[in-house]
Amino acid sequence: MLTEKQMRKTVRTADGHLLWTGGLANGYPAVKCGDRTLYVKRALWEETHGTIPEGAVVISTCGRRTCVESAHLGLSTPGRYASVRDALGRYAAKAEKSEQALRPAPVG
Ligand SMILES: [Zn+2]
Repeated sequence: MLTEKQMRKTVRTADGHLLWTGGLANGYPAVKCGDRTLYVKRALWEETHGTIPEGAVVISTCGRRTCVESAHLGLSTPGRYASVRDALGRYAAKAEKSEQALRPAPVG
């Protein structure tokens, strides 16, 4: 559950979302906890379901990135998500480039 203070940073929409209006980290709802950044969705998930398996991410299944409604949270692995695929695509492009750089110059 969100604390009372955190609840003041949310807006309940008519269609059932609980949108976060507080701070964001990398575009996701986050709060400062000492010198750590705590992702609100991860914290909520862990409260309800226990520890998040390594490598898994907590997502808003409703598609609203800032929605922190418990019922709209789901667990996923990064591979299924386009944004992650984009990131991987960029890595691949980068790797290809450096590979070209490593290739010996044609002789003759
Ligand atoms: Zn939602």
